[in-house]
Amino acid sequence: MPERLRSVELDPNLTHAFAETFISRWDCYPLQIEKGTYTQVREKLTLSHVFKHLTNARLGYPPFTIGAYALSEKSQAKWVCLDADADQQWAELWRLAYSLRDAEVPTYIEPSRRGGHLWLFTPLLSGSDIRQFARKLLVMEKISEYGEDRKRRIEIYPKQDVLGEGAGSFVRLPLGVHQKTGQVYHFVDFENKPIAPSIREQLAVLGQPNRVSQEFVSTILAQEVEVPALPPKPSPKFKKHKARHNEPLSESLKHAVSVFDFVSRYVDLNEQGRGLCPFHDDHERSFAVNKQRNYWHCFAGCLTSDGNKGGSLIDFWMKWREIHGQDSSFAATVKELREMLLSS
Ligand SMILES: [Zn+2]
Repeated sequence: MPERLRSVELDPNLTHAFAETFISRWDCYPLQIEKGTYTQVREKLTLSHVFKHLTNARLGYPPFTIGAYALSEKSQAKWVCLDADADQQWAELWRLAYSLRDAEVPTYIEPSRRGGHLWLFTPLLSGSDIRQFARKLLVMEKISEYGEDRKRRIEIYPKQDVLGEGAGSFVRLPLGVHQKTGQVYHFVDFENKPIAPSIREQLAVLGQPNRVSQEFVSTILAQEVEVPALPPKPSPKFKKHKARHNEPLSESLKHAVSVFDFVSRYVDLNEQGRGLCPFHDDHERSFAVNKQRNYWHCFAGCLTSDGNKGGSLIDFWMKWREIHGQDSSFAATVKELREMLLSS
């Protein structure tokens, strides 16, 4: 049963502190619409929106559930959220939380319908540092980010190191109503009991979260931890082509396979070449491959590593390696593509 709460019971200071903990930017926000999907509202986010998020359903109004973008406009973050949506992965995140507790590092556990979120509040960090920090924690705890099928098992928010033109990834702002289940999910302690008896008291806790120290973050970032490569690529393999002697390697790669044929191994594309963009949190098939002109493009504004609005298969693979935490330099990308596409 949702907790009954009169609006007067929610202190604006508590709402404000809670928002400061989770909200990284105030110029726009994701709003949950039907079926659990979100739309971006390009409007200033205000405390009254946060207030509606926390209270609407409890007051008997239609739910108003918003998301929290992980990165600020400057691509900085003050939290990282690890997301598991299956029991096994969620058990692994609990294990990580226990290990961190033993090291006196605070974490916050937010179970959901299936699985849940493990939150770590940090000092303000760059997107790339905070993601590297989270990756290393996972590797050190022997938790695989990817399964054998190359599908992600654990999602790290923020999903991007640096923002392109879009606002990037987001997580449902806690303590709102999950529209699929109509439930509000509480943060829990290590006994799996709510961290505080009422929403008001949970807000007070979350408004003043214990943060991971800068010292601990720096220690983890300094660890020589090998982030494992992705599991081998799925078969069928690409038909290999012979490199032509008189042309640059990058041209041979582009001649070996079309952007459409290459990309469709990794992204579900329809007949028109449209699909969900692998580079941002996409719900509306913003990604497109132009078959005639042999390039890809994201209508939501994802940029290539060089800052272009789409590009060749090399650009695609650089970006792909980047979001999978691999070396995304031109040299490393071309080397891998050569092994995939060209016969020696
Ligand atoms: Zn995109």
